[in-house]
Amino acid sequence: MGINDVKIRVLATGICGTDLHIYDWDAWASATIPIGLTIGHEFVGEVVAMGSNVVDVAMGQIVSGEGHVVCGRCRNCLAGRRHLCAHTLGVGVNRSGAFAEFIVLPMTNIWQHSAGVPHDVAAIFDPFGNAVHTALAFPVLGEDVLVTGAGPIGIMAAAVAKHAGARHVVISDPNPYRRALAEKVGVRYAFDPREKTLKWVMQELNMHEGFDVGLEMSGNPSAFRDMLGAMSHGGKIAMLGIPSEEIAIDWNTVIFNQLTLRGIYGREMYETWYKMTVMLESGLDISGVITHRLNWKNYEEGFRAMSSGNSGKVILDWTDVS
Ligand code: NAD
Ligand code: ZN
Repeated sequence: MGINDVKIRVLATGICGTDLHIYDWDAWASATIPIGLTIGHEFVGEVVAMGSNVVDVAMGQIVSGEGHVVCGRCRNCLAGRRHLCAHTLGVGVNRSGAFAEFIVLPMTNIWQHSAGVPHDVAAIFDPFGNAVHTALAFPVLGEDVLVTGAGPIGIMAAAVAKHAGARHVVISDPNPYRRALAEKVGVRYAFDPREKTLKWVMQELNMHEGFDVGLEMSGNPSAFRDMLGAMSHGGKIAMLGIPSEEIAIDWNTVIFNQLTLRGIYGREMYETWYKMTVMLESGLDISGVITHRLNWKNYEEGFRAMSSGNSGKVILDWTDVS
């Protein structure tokens, strides 16, 4: 621990898709993760110690950590655009993570939760932040929004778009468990892209000009291509889903329909965290996306649930580390 650091006792963690890649030790993980690194970056915990420079954090405060530790010196950091740091280090990917009794982070990475945020929801502020950052990348008030991929992040993004005033929010996923989960969390229109075309969906909703905003949350090439073909002229697409290979698209659609495509990574420090907090305070409820709550000792069961696709967020409880 350095003078600018905060030490946190971990209370609960979420398992991220990234953790699953590491657990499976795929090509990306074996090329990226140093052997022996403590992984995990979605967490909530309580402050148990702090360096001498840290003045505005209280002992016992319930906090989460922003998972990107930025350099503070590059052009974007100096301009206050820390989420665009060129030298960012990922917690649980490039530096020691949260699947542990304690984690130490720089004070600038600490988010202090307001009273009333349930611990398991606080544990998933990181992916909730991905959802909020993507869903609010473009104005959605009164707009028709298409979300491709009803993973936990897609479902939370759909809920956020609705909360932020979208007219229709439609979500696609071939997995029936995920569609049912989306409906449980309050998304009214979830469909199987193998059974219904977007043209058909638009007819059912009496939509004429295509979707105004697209949130790509699957990383799947055909989901992205279908989305491109169903956007209104001038439509805007925010892309969070990570494709496993290159995707070829018909660029004529982008050019002649004057579409905007925007890549999204992480969250904004700390505007997204602020927005998450106030949307919870103004009635947004994403707790239904949590489907498994397990003791950390049963982590293998948690990873199995994630692998099966028949899960939402999986939370591990770390309060008993005996
Ligand atoms: P997830 O893998 O749980 O969800 C993806 C969903 O897409 C699955 O439910 C899958 O069934 C569905 N899908 C597959 N093919 C589809 C198709 N043709 N049409 C519609 N849906 C389809 O992932 P998640 O945890 O919800 O994360 C969403 C995506 O965002 C993932 O690709 C993840 O890697 C990525 N991600 C990106 C960032 C970032 O900062 N850019 C951060 C976190 C996650
Ligand atoms: Zn930087």
